[in-house]
Amino acid sequence: MITDPRHALDTRAIHGTTLQDPHGSPHLPIYNTTTFAFPSTAALLDVVDGRKPGSLYTRYGLNPSLFALEETLAGLESAELAWAFGSGMAAEAALFLAHGREGIVCIGDAYGGTLELLSSQLPLLGIPTYFLLGAELERLDALLAGGAKLVFFETPTNPLLEVFDIRAIAQLVHARGAWLAVDNTFASPVNQRPLELGADFVIHSATKYLGGHSDLTAGVLAGAKDLVLPVWNWRKNLGSTIAPETAALLSRSLRTLAVRVRQQNASAQVIAEAMARHPKIARVYYPGLLDFPGHALAQAQMDGFGGMLTIEIAGTGEDATQVADRLRLFALAPSLGGAESLVTQPCTTTHHGLTAEERARRGIADSLLRLSIGLEDPADLIADLEQALV
Ligand code: PLP
Repeated sequence: MITDPRHALDTRAIHGTTLQDPHGSPHLPIYNTTTFAFPSTAALLDVVDGRKPGSLYTRYGLNPSLFALEETLAGLESAELAWAFGSGMAAEAALFLAHGREGIVCIGDAYGGTLELLSSQLPLLGIPTYFLLGAELERLDALLAGGAKLVFFETPTNPLLEVFDIRAIAQLVHARGAWLAVDNTFASPVNQRPLELGADFVIHSATKYLGGHSDLTAGVLAGAKDLVLPVWNWRKNLGSTIAPETAALLSRSLRTLAVRVRQQNASAQVIAEAMARHPKIARVYYPGLLDFPGHALAQAQMDGFGGMLTIEIAGTGEDATQVADRLRLFALAPSLGGAESLVTQPCTTTHHGLTAEERARRGIADSLLRLSIGLEDPADLIADLEQALV
């Protein structure tokens, strides 16, 4: 295969690795192998000591199925280096432990598991963590001056699709000698490449758009070599490396990433506009809507507005539950990014772990329903929503 950074993202998603199958298959076979043999001790030591590249032991990440995937992922995110993990949380945990020990600032809403790790677990290890809402950004500089070293946020956020200015925040963070990590799960590299905008790390739950079929669990960390390399031992010794079968499945998925995501962008736009006109909907959160607060910024830093949108039912949390339960095409499930559309009520799933007061402080009303728009015909999805919104 040919890899060329000048090729468009669509091409790099397909021709993203220099590794070739010796038998001519267009796909590398799955190296379903835990260990690799050497012709001599000298040859083994060349790889162990890093003098020569090569496969060695799969948990170390030294397996061709992982090399091929990671080369492609790095190309998609304009990164020097990308590493694949067994889940998005595994990638986050390794990053936080490697680079966040002096203090981590989380801006805005984040996935519930991320909030739990940061608020309840990392402090047990003595790692200071801080939380700022989007409206409290003026406090960031003081936290960095106080020693926090790693800033983390999602954009657009989960579930309110708040858009943060990656370039502006990166400048502020770098002025204090700290690093910026962006969770790019909601956007995918098709719609947004945080490293190009100044972030130091990009994180993915590859379980979502990168996998794209709700059939694999994986994570990604990417960035510059000197920053990603120190995470190596954490992945290796926490044992959170992706499995070769999953790596190969994810490589398969990346080949269709661009067409999937662009279709999901287009469908989400049509559905968001239809929901904005619906009398039973109080509000639609979608960066592609002209009157959405983050629209101009999203237009400036994204190539597409994404396949995620959140609707606020005009009614109570119980009313929203009933709408979710009446949907037929949208499956009631707490994930996103797959070919099938999903609905989730954040107060019962992703943000169930937060107290009602904390959800209210974050503006996460019980009447919100988060929609992950799949690849069905958007007219069928609108009809499904309309029959549920009786
Ligand atoms: N980041 C975001 C934005 C997510 O939505 C999720 C999971 O829902 C994660 C990270 C964690 O990913 P995983 O479930 O692959 O560990």
